[in-house]
Amino acid sequence: MPGKKDYYDILGVSKDASQKEIKKAYRKLAKKYHPDTNDGDEKSSEKFKEISEAYEILSDPEKRKRYDQYGHSGIGEDDFNFDDFARGGFGGFEDIFDMFFGGGRGGRSRRRGPQRGRDLQYKLQISFEEAAFGAEKQITIPRTEVCPECDGSGAESSSDVKTCPKCNGQGQIRVTQQTPFGRFAQTKTCDRCGGSGEIVKNPCSNCNGTGKVQRRRQLTINIPAGVNDGSKLRMAGEGEAGEKGAASGDLYIIIQVQEHEIFDRKGDNVYCEIPINFVQATLGDEIKVPTLEGKVKFNIPQGTQPGTTFRLKNKGITHLNRSGKGDQYIKTKVVIPKNLNKEQKELLEEFAEISGEEINPEKKGFFDKVKNVFGAF
Ligand SMILES: [Zn+2]
Ligand SMILES: [Zn+2]
Repeated sequence: MPGKKDYYDILGVSKDASQKEIKKAYRKLAKKYHPDTNDGDEKSSEKFKEISEAYEILSDPEKRKRYDQYGHSGIGEDDFNFDDFARGGFGGFEDIFDMFFGGGRGGRSRRRGPQRGRDLQYKLQISFEEAAFGAEKQITIPRTEVCPECDGSGAESSSDVKTCPKCNGQGQIRVTQQTPFGRFAQTKTCDRCGGSGEIVKNPCSNCNGTGKVQRRRQLTINIPAGVNDGSKLRMAGEGEAGEKGAASGDLYIIIQVQEHEIFDRKGDNVYCEIPINFVQATLGDEIKVPTLEGKVKFNIPQGTQPGTTFRLKNKGITHLNRSGKGDQYIKTKVVIPKNLNKEQKELLEEFAEISGEEINPEKKGFFDKVKNVFGAF
């Protein structure tokens, strides 16, 4: 994103600022530019968004690390969601309102009704091949789910659910408060019913009236071919249950790919090293090369130099978001024999002679001497 402002500059902190400093700077700026203290002024509102985004990234050690390494290009859309932020999902607005109004959960008019469930994250290790071809994996996650006994109402029976008398079922109440920044009239989530507009006479015995239960849930994850280390899969609605009737959060699967014994991966290309002997390199040969899809025949051309790299087209990894595949690159490693028998030696000497590369007898003597000192090698 060209032209996007540096997050550190936005908050006015140094690159090595501590989490405490970042939070302090954010609170100060958020106070100044909060839409409610600026009569909804557009510029302040934009500025507020900017501050919130910078804070959202820099207050998360993992996101901050990525931002430090790759700048804005290391930050995906998934990493920042202003709507979630506004709902208090990341503790953004709530934080400020705790500060303004001295606590109390969620004083934000923008947040209507019960709160959406929290997002969850799960790190999933998969093999190199599973990343290349895709896989179906079973995972078990602990999470809160809607209570099956009361369907999340928190009531023993449906007749135990009554309209909240404090807000008349609206879920919201209007309050006026005196703060250091002036008088605010605002709509707050009803504290009696928590925004649901309902109260429960006899709480559900299964969930103690919370409407939620703790579960270890087994899920099947379909991993698409082509994922890489660090890929993030979003499973909508598989996070924690929301407050009474509100939507569940999402589950994010963070892919961790194990290393392969012989293959390396760069992007969607696969790399490996193939040992060949010096005769194969010299004369050429048909060899078998391992690929992700099994062994394939490959012709080493005559006169192949050590370290030569050949490309096997379309033998790499399936592209994740478009059709086609990467390539495989094989690098030849020419192995020089260490122990030759008498006959082999004679043949090579003969070869050298024919080639006009007679072994210098003086040199030969030198190596014999070395041999005497260090023993056979
Ligand atoms: Zn229940
Ligand atoms: Zn109420």
